[in-house]
Amino acid sequence: MSVLAMKFGGTSVGSSAAIGMLCQIVHDQKTQWDNVAVVVSAMSGVTDILINGANAAARGDKASAHASADALRSRHITTLHELAGETPESAAIAQQIGALISEYELLIQAVGVLGEASPRALDAIASLGERMSVRLVAAALQAKGTPAQAIDANTVVLTTAEFGNGAPIYPQTRDQIQAAILPLFAQGITPVITGFIGATASGAITTLGRGGSDYSGAIFGEALDADEVDIYTDVDGVMTTDPRLVKHAKVLNHLSYAEMSELAYFGAKVLHPKTIRPVIERGIPIRIRNTFNPSHLGTLVTRVSEPTTHAIRAVTVIRNMNLITVEGRGMIGVQGVAARTFSAVAHAGANVLMISQASSEQSICFVIPNQSTASVITELEQSLKHELERGDIDRVKSRDEVVIVTVVGVGIHERPGVAAKVFSAIAEASVNILVIAQGSSECSISIVVAASDGDIAVKALHELALA
Ligand code: ASP
Ligand code: MG
Repeated sequence: MSVLAMKFGGTSVGSSAAIGMLCQIVHDQKTQWDNVAVVVSAMSGVTDILINGANAAARGDKASAHASADALRSRHITTLHELAGETPESAAIAQQIGALISEYELLIQAVGVLGEASPRALDAIASLGERMSVRLVAAALQAKGTPAQAIDANTVVLTTAEFGNGAPIYPQTRDQIQAAILPLFAQGITPVITGFIGATASGAITTLGRGGSDYSGAIFGEALDADEVDIYTDVDGVMTTDPRLVKHAKVLNHLSYAEMSELAYFGAKVLHPKTIRPVIERGIPIRIRNTFNPSHLGTLVTRVSEPTTHAIRAVTVIRNMNLITVEGRGMIGVQGVAARTFSAVAHAGANVLMISQASSEQSICFVIPNQSTASVITELEQSLKHELERGDIDRVKSRDEVVIVTVVGVGIHERPGVAAKVFSAIAEASVNILVIAQGSSECSISIVVAASDGDIAVKALHELALA
């Protein structure tokens, strides 16, 4: 039995026109595969609206919280009517959507009373977008003659209790997915499943992190032993770089899991970085493709990438970063400085994107998002207090307005001279490199440069990806 798991992102379910395209794609794919499972995001913008509504309520701004409820209701109900008409069936779905909006109003009221939106409350609130969109999409498929059923993933995906960043727990997740979905397959019914969400053992709703519906697509694909996981978005595939920056950027036909992971980690927005995890072991191919250009085959991601003459496949950039340096000649041989540095950073709740230590042991530097800078510096000065007082550490320096530029390609570690090419391209562009790091997977090299040099560096390096 062949199985295709398909995930549709926010823009792919963002309007009745988009959902109409989705229905056609599902219909067409059903002629090619024995079974298809559909995982969907919330309608575009809805998760932001929900979270902003919760934050408004926490600030005591009841009016905008309730305005968001009205806007969400009318958008979903209008779209439902456009797709499924005003039938008794669609009235039943409208009622379910109405109940979810009422749940939203109760939740934001509670947040308003508490004056605080806890991570747990935020997850319950954010989950509503997907719980509405699955009902809409299933109703649209039904109305167009494809038997479909909405499934709330919190009934099957068991996660850790890390709200905002739940991790699926196995084997329960796999078993529960199979128990819920396989009977639908047997009846020819297409499941339409909420991306993004799961629940803890006690039933509290969790989310897998922003953009996590891609990850859900892969979780369901793996659990259903899918032959392929298709991630439908609004671009033709993964590109050699951001086409807004370099007009002649091209779609990549084929990447390896390792290349895709590095690209996603280092800022390619097209796929959530965790998406690869569930499929690696079984080697299930992922394909990133365009709902609005369905004949394009998109980017295929498998164990091994296509043979290519280009060592460098793509260039990414992550902006709004800060480079922190802990330095001092007295650091040599002082035990535990690195450990304390990074536990201070962890304490501040900051995400470290890149680390580099000078071999002389005189400095450690790392890159964090700008918004974490103040709390990281405070934590660092606290935990390295003695070394700073004794002068073993001279200073903790912070440099804002930096970006990380990364080149990715499996050829980077297979071929000699690639790093040299990277650095001479940068030198020729007269860009000053602040830090260098080679990815642990050895299929990437990252450099940190001043934000004002970011675009120049990307353009220069992108020429290597096409050369
Ligand atoms: N709706 C969620 C978000 O906006 C998950 C997703 O779309 O992937 O983050
Ligand atoms: Mg996405």
